[in-house]
Amino acid sequence: MSLEENYSWEFLKNIADALDSYRIRALIDAKKDILDAGVYDETQYESILLTMLDEEKSKYSLYNSLKKNSESNLNTLIKYSEDNAIDLNKTLSFLELLKNEKLVIVEEINEKIEGDENTPEKLIFQDFLIIPNDIEISKLKPIYEPVKVIFDSKVCSGCGLCAGICPVNCLHIYNGFGKIDEDKCIRCGLCYFVCPRTYLPERLLNMTQENTTEIKEYSKVGHFLEAYSARTKIKDISDVCQDGGISSTCLYYLFDNDKIDFALGAKMSNTLWRPEPILLKNKEGIVSTAGTKYVNNPNLQILNQSELKGKKIAVVGVPCQMQALLKSKIYNIGFPSLDNIEYRIGIFCMESFSYESLLKICEKLDVDIDNAKKMDINKGKFFVYTNKGEELSVPIKEISHLAREDCEICYDLTSESADISIGSIGSPSGWNTVLIRTEKGKELYNELINNKLIESKPIADVKPGLPLLQRIAGSKKSTCKKHVKSKVEENKRFPYY
Ligand code: SF4
Ligand code: SF4
Ligand code: SF4
Repeated sequence: MSLEENYSWEFLKNIADALDSYRIRALIDAKKDILDAGVYDETQYESILLTMLDEEKSKYSLYNSLKKNSESNLNTLIKYSEDNAIDLNKTLSFLELLKNEKLVIVEEINEKIEGDENTPEKLIFQDFLIIPNDIEISKLKPIYEPVKVIFDSKVCSGCGLCAGICPVNCLHIYNGFGKIDEDKCIRCGLCYFVCPRTYLPERLLNMTQENTTEIKEYSKVGHFLEAYSARTKIKDISDVCQDGGISSTCLYYLFDNDKIDFALGAKMSNTLWRPEPILLKNKEGIVSTAGTKYVNNPNLQILNQSELKGKKIAVVGVPCQMQALLKSKIYNIGFPSLDNIEYRIGIFCMESFSYESLLKICEKLDVDIDNAKKMDINKGKFFVYTNKGEELSVPIKEISHLAREDCEICYDLTSESADISIGSIGSPSGWNTVLIRTEKGKELYNELINNKLIESKPIADVKPGLPLLQRIAGSKKSTCKKHVKSKVEENKRFPYY
């Protein structure tokens, strides 16, 4: 029986294109290097290769289908999804890849709603105009290069995921900056694929969070189901926490009820105020992670630890880390630890600093960093509380030049890609604002209430509440847009949101 009797010509063509793709060839050619590096065993290597092959095949299936028409639109994508029994969101994610690889040109047709002095103008999505480029796949110059381009262009957020998934362990993030051992790198491009600063389909992330195929604009804090103000009832946590202690209480409940085996977070290193990633194995270590740290911490880097394989994991992290994890859910690379992340607990983040910048802030406040007991950003100021009980502060605008350059192009204040997002803005002192974003986040929060671990109030019952959070989140988005625009004007690299 011939192959063609078993498989359609189109199926074979898509497989041939996928096998021809640079990334699949790189993974096949480097099998020995990958297994020698010891990050993955043979079963995991094969699972990654087959997952990537399947993703590439589906991407080229869409491309070959779009090539049949000179122009396509949203209806074409809907029909393609129905005919092939795949989610429209998955089709949209492949369209994003084809666009980034310049295999198709995609224009958005939007309706412009004029604003007035109180309301900014708005663009409402109407349709896509998709024009295929006729390119021979085998001659396609791969865009999936190592993330050195992201480090060099100073857009890396230091989230750590590239280092956490590198199959030959040749990439490390230290002090917020990445370094690749070029001799070991197999140029598989997996780091480029997962990185939130290469391309990040913002709207698709929100649609995935909402579990909808409706294309729409989202509020300034992203999709959420419910919003609360809350604080912990666990004394060990309330004694040490920054605000309401809700993220620590989530971990406490999850460990106590065997919902997770490990949690990834940040703890202080031997150098005070320079955080480092921590792998928590039980609730006893939770208090060591309490308190906000304003220095960047690449906690996703330790996702490659062998003890994580096959284990249930919770990750506590900042918005760029939540984006990296959700992006990897949309663009699956078959990496075992990523598949085992059960909970994404996001923290609000306005900006972060290098350790050296933090020293400069302390110098400005005339305080020794070793004497700082707590740091906080609130009411437009950066506060340092000292061991002697002093409260020192400096307006944020006087130190914003010290923040990491990559934070200027970050649009997310509230961890829009998390299951549950936690911060202080919007709630009274000593309380957390909590945004529940997914069913999983909702179930977790309800369990905290049912088990009497927290006090909770609807956010509408507290002041200043959601309006303040929406306003600050909106201003972060506007600042990001401004900085992305100037990068475009200066012909510099910027993340494709
Ligand atoms: S640095 Fe990136 S491209 Fe190089 S081997 Fe690691 S993941 Fe692959
Ligand atoms: S943003 Fe994250 S994934 Fe991208 S290069 Fe930086 S550390 Fe790596
Ligand atoms: S501002 Fe954005 S990029 Fe910077 S650390 Fe926070 S979440 Fe990451």
